[in-house]
Amino acid sequence: MKFASRLVSFDPAPGDRYRPVATPIYQTATFEQECADGFGEYDYSRSGNPTRTVLEKHLATLENGTRGFCFSSGMAAIAAVTRLLRSGDEILADSDLYGGTCRLFTRVLERTGITARYADARDLDNFERKITPRTKLIYVESPTNPLLRVLDLRRLAALAQAYGALLCVDNSTMSPYLQNPLDLGAGIVLHSATKYLGGHHDVTAGVVVVSDKALGEQFGFVQNADGTALGPFDCFLLLRGLKTLKLRLDCQQRNAKAVARFLNEHRSVQQVYYPGLADSPDYKLQHEQARGAGAVLSFTTGSLETSKAIAESTNLFRITVSFGCVSSSISLPGNMSHASLPPEVAAQRDLPRDLVRLSIGIEDDCDLIEDLDRALRLASLPSLFAEKSVAVGM
Ligand code: PLP
Repeated sequence: MKFASRLVSFDPAPGDRYRPVATPIYQTATFEQECADGFGEYDYSRSGNPTRTVLEKHLATLENGTRGFCFSSGMAAIAAVTRLLRSGDEILADSDLYGGTCRLFTRVLERTGITARYADARDLDNFERKITPRTKLIYVESPTNPLLRVLDLRRLAALAQAYGALLCVDNSTMSPYLQNPLDLGAGIVLHSATKYLGGHHDVTAGVVVVSDKALGEQFGFVQNADGTALGPFDCFLLLRGLKTLKLRLDCQQRNAKAVARFLNEHRSVQQVYYPGLADSPDYKLQHEQARGAGAVLSFTTGSLETSKAIAESTNLFRITVSFGCVSSSISLPGNMSHASLPPEVAAQRDLPRDLVRLSIGIEDDCDLIEDLDRALRLASLPSLFAEKSVAVGM
Protein backbone atom coordinates (compact mmCIF):
# COMPACT_ATOMS: atom_id res chain seq x y z
CA MET A 1 0.00 0.00 0.00
CA LYS A 2 1.06 3.58 -0.61
CA PHE A 3 1.73 5.87 2.37
CA ALA A 4 -1.63 7.70 2.13
CA SER A 5 -3.48 4.39 2.46
CA ARG A 6 -1.22 3.09 5.20
CA LEU A 7 -1.95 6.17 7.29
CA VAL A 8 -5.61 5.24 7.63
CA SER A 9 -5.63 1.47 7.04
CA PHE A 10 -4.81 -0.29 10.28
CA ASP A 11 -6.80 -2.17 12.89
CA PRO A 12 -7.96 0.62 15.25
CA ALA A 13 -9.15 -1.71 18.02
CA PRO A 14 -7.79 -5.27 17.85
CA GLY A 15 -10.17 -7.74 19.45
CA ASP A 16 -12.88 -5.18 20.28
CA ARG A 17 -16.25 -6.87 19.75
CA TYR A 18 -17.98 -3.58 18.81
CA ARG A 19 -15.49 -3.02 15.96
CA PRO A 20 -15.11 0.76 16.33
CA VAL A 21 -13.55 2.74 13.50
CA ALA A 22 -11.65 5.05 15.85
CA THR A 23 -9.43 3.67 18.59
CA PRO A 24 -11.19 3.76 21.99
CA ILE A 25 -9.43 5.67 24.76
CA TYR A 26 -8.70 3.09 27.44
CA GLN A 27 -8.59 5.68 30.20
CA THR A 28 -7.67 3.27 32.94
CA ALA A 29 -4.57 2.92 35.10
CA THR A 30 -5.07 -0.75 35.99
CA PHE A 31 -6.66 -3.86 34.45
CA GLU A 32 -8.39 -6.57 36.48
CA GLN A 33 -6.58 -9.91 36.36
CA GLU A 34 -8.28 -13.29 35.97
CA CYS A 35 -6.18 -14.97 38.62
CA ALA A 36 -3.87 -13.98 41.47
CA ASP A 37 -0.76 -15.67 40.16
CA GLY A 38 -0.47 -14.42 36.59
CA PHE A 39 -1.05 -11.38 34.39
CA GLY A 40 -3.17 -10.95 31.30
CA GLU A 41 -2.13 -8.90 28.27
CA TYR A 42 -2.41 -5.66 30.25
CA ASP A 43 -2.03 -5.04 33.95
CA TYR A 44 -0.97 -1.41 34.50
CA SER A 45 -1.02 1.46 31.97
CA ARG A 46 2.53 2.57 32.69
CA SER A 47 3.63 -0.83 31.35
CA GLY A 48 1.10 -1.08 28.55
CA ASN A 49 -2.24 0.30 27.44
CA PRO A 50 -4.37 -0.81 24.44
CA THR A 51 -4.72 2.72 23.00
CA ARG A 52 -0.95 3.12 23.17
CA THR A 53 -0.34 -0.30 21.65
CA VAL A 54 -2.36 0.61 18.56
CA LEU A 55 -0.43 3.87 18.16
CA GLU A 56 2.98 2.31 18.78
CA LYS A 57 2.38 -0.49 16.27
CA HIS A 58 1.09 2.00 13.72
CA LEU A 59 4.15 4.26 14.10
CA ALA A 60 6.54 1.30 13.91
CA THR A 61 4.93 0.36 10.59
CA LEU A 62 5.06 3.92 9.23
CA GLU A 63 8.79 4.19 10.05
CA ASN A 64 9.48 0.73 8.56
CA GLY A 65 10.64 -0.52 11.97
CA THR A 66 9.48 -3.39 14.13
CA ARG A 67 8.72 -1.69 17.46
CA GLY A 68 7.57 1.79 18.39
CA PHE A 69 7.44 3.52 21.77
CA CYS A 70 5.49 6.63 22.66
CA PHE A 71 6.64 8.99 25.39
CA SER A 72 5.18 11.97 27.18
CA SER A 73 7.32 14.38 25.12
CA GLY A 74 10.07 14.44 22.54
CA MET A 75 12.51 15.15 25.37
CA ALA A 76 11.33 12.06 27.26
CA ALA A 77 11.98 10.02 24.09
CA ILE A 78 15.49 11.51 23.80
CA ALA A 79 16.11 10.83 27.51
CA ALA A 80 15.07 7.20 26.90
CA VAL A 81 17.70 6.93 24.15
CA THR A 82 20.37 8.20 26.55
CA ARG A 83 19.34 5.48 29.04
CA LEU A 84 21.08 3.02 26.74
CA LEU A 85 24.39 4.60 27.80
CA ARG A 86 26.51 4.10 30.89
CA SER A 87 28.88 6.27 32.85
CA GLY A 88 32.07 6.79 30.78
CA ASP A 89 30.26 6.56 27.44
CA GLU A 90 30.31 9.46 25.00
CA ILE A 91 27.74 10.94 22.66
CA LEU A 92 28.99 12.54 19.48
CA ALA A 93 26.31 14.88 18.19
CA ASP A 94 25.98 17.18 15.22
CA SER A 95 26.50 20.81 16.14
CA ASP A 96 23.11 22.05 14.90
CA LEU A 97 20.69 20.46 17.34
CA TYR A 98 17.52 21.51 19.14
CA GLY A 99 18.58 23.53 22.22
CA GLY A 100 16.70 21.29 24.66
CA THR A 101 18.59 18.25 23.37
CA CYS A 102 21.93 20.00 24.06
CA ARG A 103 20.69 21.00 27.50
CA LEU A 104 19.87 17.37 28.32
CA PHE A 105 23.14 16.07 26.89
CA THR A 106 25.30 18.69 28.55
CA ARG A 107 23.64 19.76 31.78
CA VAL A 108 21.84 16.60 32.84
CA LEU A 109 23.97 13.78 31.49
CA GLU A 110 27.27 15.21 32.64
CA ARG A 111 26.12 14.48 36.22
CA THR A 112 25.93 10.80 35.30
CA GLY A 113 29.43 10.59 33.83
CA ILE A 114 28.22 10.55 30.21
CA THR A 115 29.83 13.21 28.04
CA ALA A 116 28.55 14.84 24.88
CA ARG A 117 30.68 16.42 22.20
CA TYR A 118 29.55 18.33 19.15
CA ALA A 119 30.95 18.61 15.64
CA ASP A 120 29.57 19.64 12.27
CA ALA A 121 28.45 16.32 10.79
CA ARG A 122 28.50 17.74 7.25
CA ASP A 123 32.28 17.46 7.42
CA LEU A 124 32.39 13.70 7.76
CA ASP A 125 36.19 13.42 7.92
CA ASN A 126 36.38 15.83 10.83
CA PHE A 127 33.33 14.19 12.45
CA GLU A 128 34.99 10.78 12.18
CA ARG A 129 38.14 12.12 13.86
CA LYS A 130 36.00 13.02 16.90
CA ILE A 131 34.90 9.41 17.40
CA THR A 132 36.68 7.64 20.26
CA PRO A 133 36.41 4.08 21.60
CA ARG A 134 33.96 5.52 24.16
CA THR A 135 31.59 6.92 21.54
CA LYS A 136 28.47 4.79 21.85
CA LEU A 137 25.85 7.11 20.38
CA ILE A 138 25.92 9.34 17.32
CA TYR A 139 23.02 11.74 17.48
CA VAL A 140 21.81 13.96 14.62
CA GLU A 141 18.82 15.73 13.12
CA SER A 142 18.37 16.07 9.35
CA PRO A 143 17.40 18.56 8.13
CA THR A 144 18.69 20.21 11.27
CA ASN A 145 16.77 22.61 13.44
CA PRO A 146 17.02 25.58 12.94
CA LEU A 147 19.58 25.88 10.10
CA LEU A 148 17.99 23.21 7.90
CA ARG A 149 21.35 21.62 7.14
CA VAL A 150 21.18 18.25 5.47
CA LEU A 151 23.41 15.46 6.73
CA ASP A 152 24.34 12.38 4.76
CA LEU A 153 22.45 9.81 6.82
CA ARG A 154 23.66 6.77 4.84
CA ARG A 155 27.29 7.72 5.40
CA LEU A 156 26.69 8.56 9.06
CA ALA A 157 25.03 5.16 9.54
CA ALA A 158 28.03 3.44 7.93
CA LEU A 159 30.36 5.44 10.19
CA ALA A 160 28.38 4.48 13.30
CA GLN A 161 28.44 0.85 12.30
CA ALA A 162 32.17 0.87 11.61
CA TYR A 163 32.87 2.17 15.12
CA GLY A 164 30.28 0.05 16.95
CA ALA A 165 28.10 3.03 17.87
CA LEU A 166 24.38 3.54 17.45
CA LEU A 167 23.07 6.23 15.10
CA CYS A 168 19.95 7.98 16.36
CA VAL A 169 18.21 10.32 13.90
CA ASP A 170 15.75 12.91 15.15
CA ASN A 171 13.29 12.88 12.22
CA SER A 172 10.97 15.58 13.61
CA THR A 173 11.41 18.03 10.72
CA MET A 174 10.54 15.34 8.16
CA SER A 175 8.06 12.82 9.63
CA PRO A 176 7.90 9.25 8.26
CA TYR A 177 6.04 10.57 5.23
CA LEU A 178 9.17 12.31 3.92
CA GLN A 179 12.07 10.33 5.36
CA ASN A 180 12.72 6.91 6.92
CA PRO A 181 16.13 6.93 8.65
CA LEU A 182 15.95 3.21 9.53
CA ASP A 183 15.94 2.45 5.78
CA LEU A 184 19.11 4.54 5.47
CA GLY A 185 20.87 2.47 8.15
CA ALA A 186 20.10 4.31 11.41
CA GLY A 187 19.58 2.18 14.51
CA ILE A 188 16.99 4.49 16.11
CA VAL A 189 14.56 7.01 14.65
CA LEU A 190 13.08 9.54 17.01
CA HIS A 191 10.37 12.19 16.79
CA SER A 192 9.07 15.06 18.77
CA ALA A 193 5.52 13.98 17.89
CA THR A 194 4.45 17.39 19.15
CA LYS A 195 5.43 18.52 15.63
CA TYR A 196 4.12 16.95 12.39
CA LEU A 197 2.88 13.64 13.78
CA GLY A 198 0.29 15.39 15.96
CA GLY A 199 0.13 18.36 13.61
CA HIS A 200 -2.28 20.53 15.61
CA HIS A 201 -0.22 21.59 18.62
CA ASP A 202 -2.74 20.08 20.98
CA VAL A 203 -0.50 17.28 22.24
CA THR A 204 3.08 16.99 23.55
CA ALA A 205 4.57 13.61 22.72
CA GLY A 206 7.69 11.75 21.66
CA VAL A 207 8.31 8.61 19.62
CA VAL A 208 11.15 6.13 19.22
CA VAL A 209 11.11 3.40 16.54
CA VAL A 210 13.68 0.64 16.10
CA SER A 211 14.12 -2.50 13.98
CA ASP A 212 16.50 -4.39 16.21
CA LYS A 213 14.80 -6.83 18.57
CA ALA A 214 17.22 -6.41 21.48
CA LEU A 215 17.02 -2.62 21.23
CA GLY A 216 13.22 -2.87 21.25
CA GLU A 217 13.37 -4.86 24.45
CA GLN A 218 15.63 -2.28 26.07
CA PHE A 219 13.27 0.58 25.15
CA GLY A 220 10.26 -1.37 26.47
CA PHE A 221 12.11 -1.86 29.73
CA VAL A 222 13.20 1.80 30.01
CA GLN A 223 9.73 3.15 29.13
CA ASN A 224 8.19 1.12 31.93
CA ALA A 225 11.01 1.63 34.43
CA ASP A 226 11.14 5.42 33.97
CA GLY A 227 7.35 5.74 33.70
CA THR A 228 7.48 8.20 30.80
CA ALA A 229 4.95 6.58 28.47
CA LEU A 230 2.32 8.68 26.72
CA GLY A 231 -1.13 8.73 28.35
CA PRO A 232 -4.18 7.19 26.60
CA PHE A 233 -5.92 10.44 25.67
CA ASP A 234 -2.76 11.89 24.14
CA CYS A 235 -2.30 8.60 22.23
CA PHE A 236 -5.81 9.07 20.85
CA LEU A 237 -5.00 12.63 19.76
CA LEU A 238 -1.86 11.44 17.99
CA LEU A 239 -3.73 8.61 16.27
CA ARG A 240 -6.28 11.13 15.07
CA GLY A 241 -3.69 13.70 13.93
CA LEU A 242 -1.63 11.09 12.08
CA LYS A 243 -4.46 10.24 9.69
CA THR A 244 -4.05 13.56 7.88
CA LEU A 245 -0.24 13.65 7.96
CA LYS A 246 0.14 13.37 4.18
CA LEU A 247 -2.65 15.84 3.39
CA ARG A 248 -1.22 18.37 5.81
CA LEU A 249 2.39 18.00 4.76
CA ASP A 250 1.65 18.06 1.02
CA CYS A 251 -0.04 21.43 1.50
CA GLN A 252 2.52 22.75 4.02
CA GLN A 253 5.41 21.76 1.77
CA ARG A 254 3.83 23.40 -1.28
CA ASN A 255 3.32 26.58 0.72
CA ALA A 256 6.87 26.40 2.13
CA LYS A 257 8.34 26.27 -1.38
CA ALA A 258 6.32 29.32 -2.41
CA VAL A 259 7.36 31.23 0.72
CA ALA A 260 11.02 30.21 0.30
CA ARG A 261 11.05 31.44 -3.32
CA PHE A 262 9.45 34.72 -2.26
CA LEU A 263 12.00 35.29 0.52
CA ASN A 264 14.89 34.25 -1.71
CA GLU A 265 14.09 37.14 -4.02
CA HIS A 266 13.28 39.72 -1.38
CA ARG A 267 15.85 42.50 -1.06
CA SER A 268 15.51 42.71 2.77
CA VAL A 269 16.40 39.03 3.16
CA GLN A 270 20.06 38.08 3.37
CA GLN A 271 19.95 34.31 3.20
CA VAL A 272 17.25 31.66 3.06
CA TYR A 273 17.90 28.24 4.55
CA TYR A 274 15.64 25.68 2.88
CA PRO A 275 16.81 22.48 1.15
CA GLY A 276 13.78 22.63 -1.16
CA LEU A 277 15.20 25.60 -3.09
CA ALA A 278 16.80 24.40 -6.32
CA ASP A 279 19.86 26.60 -5.68
CA SER A 280 20.35 25.25 -2.12
CA PRO A 281 23.67 23.35 -1.75
CA ASP A 282 21.66 20.70 0.15
CA TYR A 283 18.98 20.17 -2.53
CA LYS A 284 20.60 17.12 -4.16
CA LEU A 285 21.41 15.20 -0.97
CA GLN A 286 18.04 16.03 0.55
CA HIS A 287 16.21 14.60 -2.43
CA GLU A 288 18.43 11.51 -2.53
CA GLN A 289 17.57 10.51 1.03
CA ALA A 290 14.12 12.06 1.53
CA ARG A 291 10.94 12.56 -0.45
CA GLY A 292 10.71 16.32 0.03
CA ALA A 293 12.19 19.24 1.92
CA GLY A 294 9.45 19.70 4.52
CA ALA A 295 7.87 22.92 5.67
CA VAL A 296 10.33 24.52 8.07
CA LEU A 297 12.66 27.20 6.77
CA SER A 298 14.77 30.00 8.17
CA PHE A 299 16.25 33.22 6.93
CA THR A 300 18.49 36.05 8.06
CA THR A 301 18.00 39.77 7.62
CA GLY A 302 21.38 41.15 8.73
CA SER A 303 20.04 42.64 11.96
CA LEU A 304 18.46 41.25 15.11
CA GLU A 305 16.23 44.35 15.38
CA THR A 306 14.86 43.82 11.87
CA SER A 307 14.26 40.12 12.52
CA LYS A 308 12.50 40.91 15.79
CA ALA A 309 10.40 43.57 14.08
CA ILE A 310 9.37 41.09 11.36
CA ALA A 311 8.33 38.47 13.91
CA GLU A 312 6.33 41.08 15.80
CA SER A 313 4.65 42.44 12.66
CA THR A 314 3.16 39.31 11.12
CA ASN A 315 -0.47 38.50 11.70
CA LEU A 316 -0.90 35.01 10.21
CA PHE A 317 2.49 33.83 11.47
CA ARG A 318 2.13 33.74 15.23
CA ILE A 319 5.16 33.92 17.49
CA THR A 320 5.43 30.46 18.96
CA VAL A 321 8.20 28.00 19.67
CA SER A 322 7.90 24.57 18.05
CA PHE A 323 6.92 23.76 14.47
CA GLY A 324 4.76 21.38 12.48
CA CYS A 325 1.35 22.80 13.28
CA VAL A 326 -1.40 23.36 10.68
CA SER A 327 -1.15 27.07 11.42
CA SER A 328 2.01 28.98 10.55
CA SER A 329 4.42 30.21 13.17
CA ILE A 330 7.45 32.47 13.38
CA SER A 331 10.26 32.49 15.92
CA LEU A 332 13.75 33.75 16.63
CA PRO A 333 15.55 30.52 17.61
CA GLY A 334 18.44 32.38 19.25
CA ASN A 335 16.02 34.01 21.69
CA MET A 336 13.47 31.20 21.95
CA SER A 337 13.81 27.45 21.19
CA HIS A 338 17.62 27.57 21.37
CA ALA A 339 17.94 29.97 24.29
CA SER A 340 18.42 26.92 26.53
CA LEU A 341 21.77 26.14 24.90
CA PRO A 342 24.47 25.91 27.55
CA PRO A 343 26.75 28.98 27.05
CA GLU A 344 29.81 26.90 26.11
CA VAL A 345 27.78 25.06 23.45
CA ALA A 346 26.22 28.30 22.20
CA ALA A 347 29.71 29.80 21.84
CA GLN A 348 30.78 26.93 19.53
CA ARG A 349 27.74 27.23 17.29
CA ASP A 350 27.42 29.51 14.34
CA LEU A 351 23.74 30.24 14.94
CA PRO A 352 23.04 33.68 13.47
CA ARG A 353 21.45 35.95 16.08
CA ASP A 354 19.16 37.41 13.41
CA LEU A 355 17.88 34.01 12.28
CA VAL A 356 14.12 33.88 11.79
CA ARG A 357 12.52 30.43 11.65
CA LEU A 358 9.20 29.86 9.94
CA SER A 359 6.99 26.83 10.25
CA ILE A 360 4.59 26.88 7.35
CA GLY A 361 0.99 25.83 7.84
CA ILE A 362 -1.96 25.02 5.61
CA GLU A 363 -3.20 28.58 5.07
CA ASP A 364 -3.48 29.99 1.55
CA ASP A 365 0.05 30.61 0.26
CA CYS A 366 -0.90 34.05 -1.14
CA ASP A 367 -2.06 35.16 2.32
CA LEU A 368 1.17 33.91 3.89
CA ILE A 369 3.33 35.74 1.37
CA GLU A 370 1.27 38.92 1.72
CA ASP A 371 1.64 38.77 5.51
CA LEU A 372 5.42 38.36 5.26
CA ASP A 373 5.74 41.00 2.58
CA ARG A 374 3.94 43.53 4.76
CA ALA A 375 6.02 42.58 7.83
CA LEU A 376 9.28 42.86 5.86
CA ARG A 377 8.28 46.29 4.59
CA LEU A 378 7.28 47.50 8.06
CA ALA A 379 10.46 46.13 9.61
CA SER A 380 12.67 47.90 7.12
CA LEU A 381 11.03 51.25 8.01
CA PRO A 382 11.87 51.65 11.71
CA SER A 383 9.98 54.92 12.10
CA LEU A 384 6.83 53.36 10.71
CA PHE A 385 7.33 50.26 12.80
CA ALA A 386 6.78 52.32 15.92
CA GLU A 387 3.31 53.09 14.57
CA LYS A 388 2.53 49.59 13.32
CA SER A 389 0.41 48.62 16.32
CA VAL A 390 -2.04 51.27 15.17
CA ALA A 391 -1.62 50.52 11.46
CA VAL A 392 -2.33 46.78 11.71
CA GLY A 393 -4.63 46.91 14.71
CA MET A 394 -2.49 44.69 16.98
N1 PLP B 1 13.58 17.48 18.61
C1 PLP B 1 13.41 18.61 17.92
C2 PLP B 1 14.00 18.74 16.55
C3 PLP B 1 12.67 19.67 18.48
O1 PLP B 1 12.54 20.82 17.80
C4 PLP B 1 12.11 19.51 19.78
C5 PLP B 1 11.31 20.58 20.39
O2 PLP B 1 11.08 21.62 19.85
C6 PLP B 1 12.33 18.31 20.45
C7 PLP B 1 13.06 17.31 19.85
C8 PLP B 1 11.76 18.09 21.84
O3 PLP B 1 10.43 17.71 21.71
P1 PLP B 1 9.29 18.06 22.80
O4 PLP B 1 9.16 19.54 22.81
O5 PLP B 1 8.10 17.33 22.27
O6 PLP B 1 9.75 17.54 24.10
